[in-house]
Amino acid sequence: MNIIIFGPPGIGKGSVSGLLKDKYRVPHISTGNIFRESSDKRIRHYLEKGLLVPDEDVMRVVEKRLKEKDCQNGFILDGFPRTLEQAGFLEEKGVKISIVLNLLGDTDVIVARLSGRLICPKCGAIYHIRNIKPKKKGICDKCGTELVHRKDDQPDVVRNRIDVYRKQTKVLIEYYRKRNLLVDIQADGQLSDVVNNITAVIEDKV
Ligand code: AMP
Repeated sequence: MNIIIFGPPGIGKGSVSGLLKDKYRVPHISTGNIFRESSDKRIRHYLEKGLLVPDEDVMRVVEKRLKEKDCQNGFILDGFPRTLEQAGFLEEKGVKISIVLNLLGDTDVIVARLSGRLICPKCGAIYHIRNIKPKKKGICDKCGTELVHRKDDQPDVVRNRIDVYRKQTKVLIEYYRKRNLLVDIQADGQLSDVVNNITAVIEDKV
């Protein structure tokens, strides 16, 4: 099952993909995560500036990753494609997409969610001021490190990131809708409901 997942920052793509990955036994491939781990100075430059990495670099990385053994039964692509060229590349290479999940959410709900988010700078655990409180205020349950609020989770920054996402993704949404592959999923509710809806759609469509 070859899945593409779209969704604005903060909608919970990571959590949804994590659950789908276990359920369907396919890897979750996030190009953002791959690039964040890169030590290549040129790539780091694009990330630090918040710019898209050039298509040729992204396509090279994705092509290599999709050839790995764990992708034989499929994959969940998150963060790719970001441009029409990248979408065309998948088509040229004969990569058949089974379904494109378009996670939708209200901007105000996402902003409220992210502006209360706390993360552990050491182990990456995620908490929330109201919804997922750590046992001891401001301290990570798992490793005891002091939790921080990410700079790019501030309300203004979040709104801007969501705006940029919507503008960038519009053409891709149209591209996959035309090909009858796109399914809209309301995703600003409970994670378990979102995953149940997705599972039902996948079982019906794929
Ligand atoms: P993300 O975590 O998906 O927001 O990605 C973080 C950063 O990685 C982006 O701001 C881009 O610089 C880069 N990146 C990730 N995926 C792509 C892609 N498909 N095309 C170009 N740049 C990408």
